[in-house]
Amino acid sequence: MKKVLVLEDEANIRSFVVINLKRSGYEPLEAETGESALSILKQHPDTRVALLDVMLPDIDGFEVCRRIRASGSDMGIIMLTAKAGEMDKVTGLMTGADDYVTKPFSPAELTARIDALYRRAGALPEEDDLRDFESGPFKLSTRNRTLEKNGTRIKLTQIEYSVIKLFMENPKTALSREEIFNSVWGRDDFGELKIVDVNIRRLRKKIEDDPTAPEYITTVWGYGYKWGF
Ligand code: CA
Repeated sequence: MKKVLVLEDEANIRSFVVINLKRSGYEPLEAETGESALSILKQHPDTRVALLDVMLPDIDGFEVCRRIRASGSDMGIIMLTAKAGEMDKVTGLMTGADDYVTKPFSPAELTARIDALYRRAGALPEEDDLRDFESGPFKLSTRNRTLEKNGTRIKLTQIEYSVIKLFMENPKTALSREEIFNSVWGRDDFGELKIVDVNIRRLRKKIEDDPTAPEYITTVWGYGYKWGF
């Protein structure tokens, strides 16, 4: 079964989400508090996607996200936020979330995002798609879905891996934020382009020598980003 953690303290919203996930063929694991969510994930290490509410009675959803990533997990993480303003903090994304939805959301919208992350998390590369990319100090293995810089492994989320792969497939090419969003998140609504920027910012922290003066992922002002040096 395709397990999805649903961390939400409001019973109404949680059961609404759970019913819709079951209808879409998922097996939801329910949690009301951050601590219980973390222990459920320990019991179900095969969970590939987590929905994390931000405002919770104990630790907040950002902290839950941080601890999931600190444990070494590359599972898909979607933050559920009460209002768009919560994401202005973008801390949730900086600590490792892949996507977010703002309440109120439609079941179709939520399911589409979970489907996209699930496909990515479970995706096995086609045999003839398997190739290694080498670029400067970096080596990307599509077989192992790993990135190395000067021979040292850099831990990436599934989304970060997909962004790097897209860059390596298109070296020295300016990619628009829309193209990156479309290709990596697998959706074509352009309402959430900010998520591209926060993921790029996080990637730079992981791969650049100096994230404040990026050399590998450069900004193409008013357009997008480019891999090339
Ligand atoms: Ca809440």
